[in-house]
Amino acid sequence: MSRIYNFSAGPATLPLEALEEAAGQFVDYENSGMSLIEMSHRGKQYDAVHSETIALLREILQVPDTSHVLLLQGGATLQFGMIPLAFLKSGMSADYITTGSWAKKAVGDARTVGAVSVAWDGADCSYSRMPAQQELTLNPNAAYVHLCSNETIGGIQWQSFPDTGTVPLVCDMSSEILSRPLDWEKIDMVYAGAQKNLAPAGMALVIMSERLASMARKDLPAYLRYDLHIEGNSLYNTPPTFVIWMTQLTLKWIKSIGGMPELERRRDEKASMLYDTITNSGGYYRSPVDQASRSTMNVVWRLPSEELEKQFLQQAEQESMSGLKGHRSVGGCRASIYNAMPVEGVKALTDFMREFMKKNG
Ligand code: PMP
Repeated sequence: MSRIYNFSAGPATLPLEALEEAAGQFVDYENSGMSLIEMSHRGKQYDAVHSETIALLREILQVPDTSHVLLLQGGATLQFGMIPLAFLKSGMSADYITTGSWAKKAVGDARTVGAVSVAWDGADCSYSRMPAQQELTLNPNAAYVHLCSNETIGGIQWQSFPDTGTVPLVCDMSSEILSRPLDWEKIDMVYAGAQKNLAPAGMALVIMSERLASMARKDLPAYLRYDLHIEGNSLYNTPPTFVIWMTQLTLKWIKSIGGMPELERRRDEKASMLYDTITNSGGYYRSPVDQASRSTMNVVWRLPSEELEKQFLQQAEQESMSGLKGHRSVGGCRASIYNAMPVEGVKALTDFMREFMKKNG
């Protein structure tokens, strides 16, 4: 077997241990004579997977008992719409912090539902940094404040979350969930598409305080009702059983390596290796983002010319490193270094970057 280093932004590399565990059990799950993905979601064996996945999420992210953990279909994109539908009631307004492509998509959906106020827009700085607290125009009566904690395309990340007072803070953490501990005193909701730090595509993890959940509208079609998902423990309808099983295996792997503290240690090691390589390249590699907002998950950089970028990407591919092309909307290069990317993968990439610069600098 030869696995390459996959730096894709999502779907993304998953822990080899989780993939192998699933492969070994795929056809005959724990001697049941069938695959887990063929089983009823109301059966005992699937139920054990479902419950353990939620329990592990609670444990690793230290989710308080007063918050709900939901596993929903539709990816993060469905949350862009579900959030305003549930919480942006008539006569109210919601604050959105516009920091890049993904935050803009969330604002766009909210505008189709109700009144939105943009608390800050990074257009003037080409979305190269996150705002400081004093730059935000926050409405103390807003239904909620929405932000994207890590802009997957732009490569910027909130280092700490803004203070929103008593207004619920809602965070799209799709490309960084499980990369840092969260302060649940400050955050009422996080959501994340599964296909980066958790599992294959097909699910969103939603963690929501009871305070926020109690405000959700109920006069909506069933799937859009958070209260029904909470009441049914994410079994209101047929859940994405395969994705949830893979999430469980990823979480077991996280526990086996030492949980959140070890994830943080590896995150910092990998991000520093890449940013140091960029910084020490004498301007050959150039980071388009502000140093204080650099993402630890999606590292973006440019080369001196588009032609060199093309060659860089082609040669990286030949060296078994894939997925390094920047998003089509911005160009350049991007390495997504989620939890499952081994330190050796980033070592191989930074060695290659130095070598490429030596030959082409
Ligand atoms: N938010 C962010 C920050 C993302 O990176 C993405 C996907 N790349 C999404 C939302 C949309 O997620 P999904 O494709 O799961 O709907």
